[in-house]
Amino acid sequence: MAEINKQIKRIGVLTSGGDAPGMNAAIRAVVRACTYYGIEVYGIRRGYRGLLDGDMKEMNARSVSDIIYRGGTILQTARCHTFRSHEGIVQGKKMAEVFGLDALVVIGGDGSFNGALAISKEGLPVIGIPGTIDNDIGCTDYTIGYDTAMNTVRDAIDKIKDTASSHERCSFVEVMGRNAGYIAMNCAIAGGAEVCLIPERPFSLESDVVKKIIECRNRGKHHYVVIVAEGVGGTMELAAKVKDITGIETTATILGHIQRGGSPTVKDRVVAGLMGVKAVQCLTHGEINKIIAFKGEKCVAVDMEEGLKTPKHLDEDMLLANEILNV
Ligand code: ATP
Repeated sequence: MAEINKQIKRIGVLTSGGDAPGMNAAIRAVVRACTYYGIEVYGIRRGYRGLLDGDMKEMNARSVSDIIYRGGTILQTARCHTFRSHEGIVQGKKMAEVFGLDALVVIGGDGSFNGALAISKEGLPVIGIPGTIDNDIGCTDYTIGYDTAMNTVRDAIDKIKDTASSHERCSFVEVMGRNAGYIAMNCAIAGGAEVCLIPERPFSLESDVVKKIIECRNRGKHHYVVIVAEGVGGTMELAAKVKDITGIETTATILGHIQRGGSPTVKDRVVAGLMGVKAVQCLTHGEINKIIAFKGEKCVAVDMEEGLKTPKHLDEDMLLANEILNV
């Protein structure tokens, strides 16, 4: 277990990668836990870009008032190409020294954690808090933002279904998730979709999509919803092909960035709160270079290097459940 003897007096906190609802709640939790434990905390703007630029300022319990319900991130986020190089990492470590940071708390996805791991190897202790709508980090059951994003998708599917049903249409709905199909699988079940296409599972347009839609029509259904995870791609083309083959009026909706915004759900606020507190507690206990994972409704600290190697397994039960629920 990675540990540190030096007492942590001042830390930096940043958000990195794609924004996710609940990141503000996580920033708030880190800042307030630092206040509680007597640690100074600097908010770093625009992720690793801000670290390299020294774009940071001290925060206190009041700096995070009134942000728990807000989507996005008050610290802003960025994708920083320079930080992917060794020179960038060394520059980041130097800037942390300039500001007297003893550790860094990184709120982001697995890309951001790879950056954190790299800087930890230069001697700056880090803690990662999983914040991404994709829920694609293998060592944790849950990532902040996932529940809010899924509720946004569920709401969109419900609305699309109303109009699809009135016009007896087939509606393709593309949802986010990068290379992961978790948002798609959950929302297919929650939204009663007829078909769910995910990148983890190859499919045949004829037997897995067209045949199913025709079977649904023969059973008397008036609408057909096909959820496509963004990692599958080509949603517009798929919809056009289905229209050509079946003759059914077909539409395609790419939900896009609407899925990243909005006020976080209770689950995202609570998990963000618990993870933020746990992150600071790890530092006060000398536990460093960890990812705060959510396992069995509890926060646990997982070694960052090991955690990043953990594969995320596809939940076959969910796929089967969606099949069964569509008879
Ligand atoms: P999301 O899943 O929401 O997109 P993410 O954290 O995975 O979040 P990325 O764009 O992959 O998003 O990574 C965010 C930033 O982390 C990058 O712009 C870069 O600055 C840094 N980063 C990513 N991978 C590495 C790496 N291998 N080494 C150093 N830094 C990295």
